[in-house]
Amino acid sequence: MRATEIIARKRANQPLSEDQIRFFIEGYTTGTIPDYQAAALLMAISIFGLTPVELSVLTDAMLRSGKVLDLSHVEGMKVDKHSTGGVGDKISICLAPAVAFLGIKVPMISGRGLGHTGGTLDKLEAIRGFDVHLSSERFIRQVADLGVCLIGQTEDLAPADRKLYALRDVTATVDSIPLIASSIMSKKLVEGIDALVLDVKVGKGAFMESQEEARLLAQTLISIGRESGKKVTAVLSSMDQVLGNEVGNANEIREAMEVMSGKGPLDVRRLTMALGAEMLMLAHKAPDQKTGEELVGKSLDDGTALKRFQELVQAQGGDPRVVEDPSLLPRAAHRVEVPSSSKGLLASMDSRKIGVAAMLAGAGRQKAEDRVDPAVGITVLKKVGDSVEKGEPLAVLQHNGASGTSEALQLILQAFVVAPDPPDPSPLILDVLRG
Ligand code: URA
Repeated sequence: MRATEIIARKRANQPLSEDQIRFFIEGYTTGTIPDYQAAALLMAISIFGLTPVELSVLTDAMLRSGKVLDLSHVEGMKVDKHSTGGVGDKISICLAPAVAFLGIKVPMISGRGLGHTGGTLDKLEAIRGFDVHLSSERFIRQVADLGVCLIGQTEDLAPADRKLYALRDVTATVDSIPLIASSIMSKKLVEGIDALVLDVKVGKGAFMESQEEARLLAQTLISIGRESGKKVTAVLSSMDQVLGNEVGNANEIREAMEVMSGKGPLDVRRLTMALGAEMLMLAHKAPDQKTGEELVGKSLDDGTALKRFQELVQAQGGDPRVVEDPSLLPRAAHRVEVPSSSKGLLASMDSRKIGVAAMLAGAGRQKAEDRVDPAVGITVLKKVGDSVEKGEPLAVLQHNGASGTSEALQLILQAFVVAPDPPDPSPLILDVLRG
């Protein structure tokens, strides 16, 4: 079998056989198929898509590219949550400790920033010492002892996705339903979970801009879960504006800790409660959505989620003092305000532009080998519907002088539209699909 034949077949919009898909994934994971051939196949898939059979084989091949964890001896329901990617999306950081405290086991394998979206691993690494590269044995032990562990893919956990994810980021092949679905589900199915809640983002700052596309992605994810015998719930949530006020790695940890202290922006709190309630329902820890939300809200308000977060930071080698003293998180040397050029109400905020701006200023990667600067971030001071005076700051960029800074400032300014009479903002939660 030759890689070029497989690429040519997909380029001709012909379905690939099971053997061809498994050959390609194994070859790419072990290094016999180089990045440039994998990039060509990714592009052909993102143009022509995959049949349901191809998708299920691809997901299985990716998940079996390393070892599959067995958590059957860990007591309790193992439930994870994953987002399809957003801007300012720090929900996993607030949610995992909150539901772990409520008795769910959360074995969470997260990703790094992808395209204009941030990644949970990059955010956690803004905490000095936080180690996301634990062995599988340590991961399982921590899930059993603390109820929660957050790591990245390792050499032996879904290594195919780790390589493909980085390659997609730099080859304009991110926003493809089969590639997103196989990436997410291969990572999630190695974790040994019983059930999964997916936050499928919709809107400007999401990979799926329309509700139709997002619904199709949600259904695709649910059906892959069903084939593997896992219960999957998908929540469609709006990504038309930044979630919360903070974008960037240290900024988002700071804001997540506020939410875990019963404060912070209402949208982050509401989504944390809604997704947490779905996890509790799947784990039979809450009879209905309302009770689930109340339980999560209580653990945010009474300090138990924050306490579990501090234990998590400590268990993974991070500096636990950041919880009491967020000023220990990295801070950028410069801050620049972006003022409004007119008076009115904030009509829209292009969260994709804000995400790209954060990336250009150094909070994300333009090339796979780039290092992220944890201190770089954007604080959004106005949300859709807020009144704005001429000259009033809309956002603040915190930066360290990276080469993309002036372009970032331009993008932030373009992202905000102020109008005299704007339409109502879209609701935060658009739908819930219980698979
Ligand atoms: N999250 C993932 O894990 N993979 C994607 O492709 C997109 C979001």
